[in-house]
Amino acid sequence: MKFREEEDKYILFCSKCGKEAATYQIERDESKKITSIKYEGNFSRTIKEWVSQKVLSYLKEEDVWGLNEFLSRHNITYGGIDLYCRKCQKVYCPDCWETRLKFEDGGGWYDYAEGVCPEGHKTIIDD
Ligand SMILES: [Zn+2]
Ligand SMILES: [Zn+2]
Repeated sequence: MKFREEEDKYILFCSKCGKEAATYQIERDESKKITSIKYEGNFSRTIKEWVSQKVLSYLKEEDVWGLNEFLSRHNITYGGIDLYCRKCQKVYCPDCWETRLKFEDGGGWYDYAEGVCPEGHKTIIDD
């Protein structure tokens, strides 16, 4: 897993093309206390203060699997890291994921979005 740590910023790189895939930006108040973490991937999410410390410890250990499970279990981001393939245990950038929008039969209503990783694994990324 490629990972880069900058000041208050963690970057996850695509395992296929090496581009920046997702970022975790730590936000602080005037007294330098962490207020939240802003996640930018396929979707944007703000991770609230009460789980920030835990998320941060996963980032520090570069434990993407653990982080994904944690986010998913607590339903902080849908399915965990939205660019993470559980089968490959890798992160891919939005360009390397193929996104397919699924519609209900007949009605034409949007049902869910399915992502296909470069290895062909399918996962629901939005429901
Ligand atoms: Zn890529
Ligand atoms: Zn995969």
